[in-house]
Amino acid sequence: MKLRSFLFSAIAAAMGFSAAALAEQPAQHQDILAMVGQHAADFSATSKTIWDYAELRYQEEKSSALLQRELQSAGFSIQSGVADEPTAFVASYGQGEPVIGILGEFDALPGLSQATTPYRSPIVAEAPGHACGHNLLGSGAALAAVALKEYIERNHIAGTLRYYGTPAEEGGDGKVYMVRAGLFRDVDVVLHWHPGDKNEVLNGGMLAINGAKFLFHGVAAHAARAPERGRSALDAVMLMGNGIEFLREHIPSNSRIHYVITKGGAAPNVVPDTAELYLYARNPSSAVLGGVWDRILKIGQGAALMTETTLDVRELSGDANVLANDALARLAQRNLVEVGGFRYTADEQQFAQELQKSLPPGVAGELNSTALIQPLRRPDLNDTAASTDVGDVSWNVPTIGFHAATFVPGVGAHTWQAAASAGMSIGQKGMIVAAKALAVTGADLFSDRQLVVDAKADFRRALAGNTYQSVIPAGQKPPVHYREN
Ligand SMILES: [Zn+2]
Ligand SMILES: [Zn+2]
Repeated sequence: MKLRSFLFSAIAAAMGFSAAALAEQPAQHQDILAMVGQHAADFSATSKTIWDYAELRYQEEKSSALLQRELQSAGFSIQSGVADEPTAFVASYGQGEPVIGILGEFDALPGLSQATTPYRSPIVAEAPGHACGHNLLGSGAALAAVALKEYIERNHIAGTLRYYGTPAEEGGDGKVYMVRAGLFRDVDVVLHWHPGDKNEVLNGGMLAINGAKFLFHGVAAHAARAPERGRSALDAVMLMGNGIEFLREHIPSNSRIHYVITKGGAAPNVVPDTAELYLYARNPSSAVLGGVWDRILKIGQGAALMTETTLDVRELSGDANVLANDALARLAQRNLVEVGGFRYTADEQQFAQELQKSLPPGVAGELNSTALIQPLRRPDLNDTAASTDVGDVSWNVPTIGFHAATFVPGVGAHTWQAAASAGMSIGQKGMIVAAKALAVTGADLFSDRQLVVDAKADFRRALAGNTYQSVIPAGQKPPVHYREN
């Protein structure tokens, strides 16, 4: 065996693929990568327009309409306002099996308006900004979908491609209601990506989360003249908070509980008749979180009992953890390695160095790490993490995702630094890496049915007999009228 082919086989074997399978790929991948390249400038512009719109959860009218127009003009048919969410939509192309879905988000975050400058400079003070890079997320996913549609059309490949326009990822559970409406019932595989500061495959992880507002009702009274007539709702909130603090010691240590007091009374001389505690709880496992959640509810009930108030648990929200899929992860890793990363221009490098000066000591990463692909790994359940409504999709359909280096290395999501790079070429270059990885992975899934079979087998293994259940009650409508940001 010649050294080159030996190395080729060794690399392929290390990735879990035969050399023959790997050798077949490049021709079809070159086609699809060229199609991504043809549309890259258009969708970079789309991402900038959505960055300018910076619309909050469930208010993404312009962003959603723009993506729908782009997909419709590319030949997709559009179903909009799905799942009782005015800004949710499904764009479809083709028919029959397999059914491959790509997720797109486009909501912004409150208070993080930011110009494309390497120092803090809001465009409009306290206005929303794309600090999670969802402008890139939705546009990059659409870029992948448009390229993939052209690919399956030109090659007469059977199957259905869907782009899911999923609103309100930031605290609105947009996808949870879309899952509940049955929109993913017939899907074989779902692909997604998220902006980050590295190029890597996202194979599961993230934290399951439950949230609710605990609203206590008491009796108002003069706090000095007739305190005995009052029943303080604020006392109930304080006691619930104390109960939570004692609970912390007796739950798995990789749990997170955080809360704020959203109503606490109006004046010291009036016993508050309403008070409210707004709480999130998280754990890497949805099942473990369910047990913790039951105990949190009991603490709320106990606080009401102690204070002779009543408790109303409202606006329940929740996302499942993201289930890993090792079969899809191996495919995704191979493709991401093939796509590769990117390098900054001299101007971008200067911008990035300047921006990194605003980061806490020791946080800034190597600038040339944007050219690298991180090794494939299963997430460590004790890593710090956030939550996503992709989790609920992953409990219903085999799902795999990517991170791409859209943020300057060291920059975390939900910061002004993230919003700055999401609105410029640095973010757009990362977006194109993600679009390419999504598109070639989609092309593989359309071309090789065995990959879908393997993904489904791995999905059943990951479920391990568990069934999906959302904390959100069946009758609760999507909170589309959110305004308290
Ligand atoms: Zn976010
Ligand atoms: Zn996000």
